[in-house]
Parts: sequence; structure tokens; C-alpha cells
Amino acid sequence: MRAAVLVGPNQLEMQDVPTPKAGPGELVLRVGANTVCGTDGRILRGEKTAGVRQGVIMGHEFSGYVHEIGEGVEGYREGDLVGVMPTVPCLRCYYCINHLEHVCINAKLFGYWIDGGLAEYVLVSAEAIERGAIVVADPSADPAEIALAEPLGCVLNGVDNYGIDIGDTVLIIGAGPIGLLHTMVAKQMGASQIIVVNRSAGRLEVAKEVGATHTALTGDVDVPEFVKDLTGGLGANVAVQCIGVLDLFQTALQSVRNGGRVNAFAGFPKGQMASIDPNLIHYNELTVTGGSNMGRNNYRRAVQLIGDGSINVGALLTEPFALEDAAEAIAHASAGKGIKTAVIPG
Ligand SMILES: [Zn+2]
Ligand SMILES: [Zn+2]
Repeated sequence: MRAAVLVGPNQLEMQDVPTPKAGPGELVLRVGANTVCGTDGRILRGEKTAGVRQGVIMGHEFSGYVHEIGEGVEGYREGDLVGVMPTVPCLRCYYCINHLEHVCINAKLFGYWIDGGLAEYVLVSAEAIERGAIVVADPSADPAEIALAEPLGCVLNGVDNYGIDIGDTVLIIGAGPIGLLHTMVAKQMGASQIIVVNRSAGRLEVAKEVGATHTALTGDVDVPEFVKDLTGGLGANVAVQCIGVLDLFQTALQSVRNGGRVNAFAGFPKGQMASIDPNLIHYNELTVTGGSNMGRNNYRRAVQLIGDGSINVGALLTEPFALEDAAEAIAHASAGKGIKTAVIPG
């Protein structure tokens, strides 16, 4: 089969590799779609190395059709469309035992360590199946949409951490795919005002289509003032930072009302410090949370919400790429072109 193999920094090679066979307890999936994200670019450029194996087949956001069922595997039928949660938690460490499997310290990830979805077929180990990484999707769903259960599941974990109440004003900083997913979920959860700010204009139009009630360019407005003007001087209930620009963290803290919540959802450049006024947290009694991955509960919810049409992630899919052009697809996503780029084998 053809596969996109990480050979070294900036070297993603299309190779002929043996097509996997399902041993006892294993599954082989025919990849339906693999969407790419900024993390793929960081792995490929060698900026992200933790848990990454040289020689791995890349791709961590994917879905597939059950192609071969190993001896003893139950609960799947040939042809089932399934989503793959890329993180396989150990279920034994302190965090897994304490309901925090999304920060498991022994997790192995598809597309980082385990061969991933930028290939024609993927082998799913007995371990990954037993630990709940494979979720059957609605058979009529678009496989590229089911691939987006990965980022959506991560967003649902973030929402669990920061909380949205019906009637809330939510500020989303950054209108990349992740900011747009937070926008969709905030709308679904009953936020009354969803304010999306971004550096460039193009995606603000998309933000409006998927639920933003107000948008602005970060260069055009003073963001905290803009938000306060829309909320009777109070500020937002919650601000979600979806772009790793350090200065905007202070902006997020300034944009929420007393007792408000700020979520650092985006990753920031490694080793760099943000300058913030901690008195905003102290006097205004703010709650600051993070969010970077998901557990099985959120992955399952994401597959279901996409399958039943509650969250229309298809609105984020732009021009797909062929498997042979996987490296171009990652470069395309890294350059901020398109919104969500899917690689479709075959
Ligand atoms: Zn991703
Ligand atoms: Zn663990």
C-alpha cells in the first residue's frame, strides 16, 4: 500500500509499505479520510518530537471502514465506518485512574508513534480496540466529517473545562478551525452572544456562517473595549484563546467580566513567556483553564454529534487532497490555506 512516512525533519516520503494484516484481536481499516492540522506541520518540521517515532506513518485525525476483522474481535462488521481516537491511554497511570485519561503520561498516539491515517490502510492493535479508541459512526456520515471528531472531541474537552451556560457571552480569539469549532459548540450550547475576533478577514465570514453573532479584526478594534461595548460594560462570561499569540492572553484576561473564565486552548510557542497582569485574576476572581486533548467520553460524543448532524463540521471542509499529495496538504494547512484539509486515499 502507499503511505506517507516521516523519514526525518521536513521529509515526508510516499512509500510502498506492506499492507497490514489483522492478527488475533486486531482490525485493519481502509482509510476513509485523514484531515490534517497544525500539529502535523510541527511534527513534520521537527518542532514537535515528544512521542514521535521516526519512520511512523503520519496522520492522527482519521476515519476508516472496517476492512479485515481479526480472530476474536467482536462488535464490528466489515464495512462499518469508524472513527479512531488517536490517543490510546494506558488506563493504569495516576491520571487515567483519576478520570484524566486525556493527560495520560503513557499514552501512545496514532500518527505520532503508532502508524496513522495518511495511508491506504491502518492496523488497529488489540490494545487500541480494548482501550476504546475505535468508535462506530453513523454509516451515512461523510468519512472526512468523522475524521473531524478528533478536533471536535478536543474542543468538547475544552468546553468541559471552561463551561458554557445558556445565555452566556463567549469570546473566541482566533478563527482557525479550532476557533470555528468552539463557535459551533457555543452556539449549540445556548450562548446568546458569540464574539469572534481574528487577525484576517476571510475566516470571519465563515465564523458568521457557523454561529458568530459579532466579529472584528484584532487590528481594527481594542478587543476588551469591543466586548465590553457589546455587554453593557461587563465583558464576556468566557474567553477562549484559539490562537497561540502570547500577547492575546492578556487580552483574554481583560475581556471577561468579574468571575469570568479564560481558557488557554491554543498551544503557545515552546519556551516563550506571556506577560500578564495577575491582578486581573486576583481581583476579578477569574478562573483560568487549559485544554489540549480528549478522553474517550468526548471522542464518542464528537462522533455522535457529527453523525446525527447536531454539529455540522462539514462547513469547515475545503478542497481535499489525494494521498500522494499528503506533504502538500500539510504545507497547505500550515500556511493557513483552506480551513480543514482532508486527504482522501483512492
Ligand atoms: Zn490534529
Ligand atoms: Zn494513563
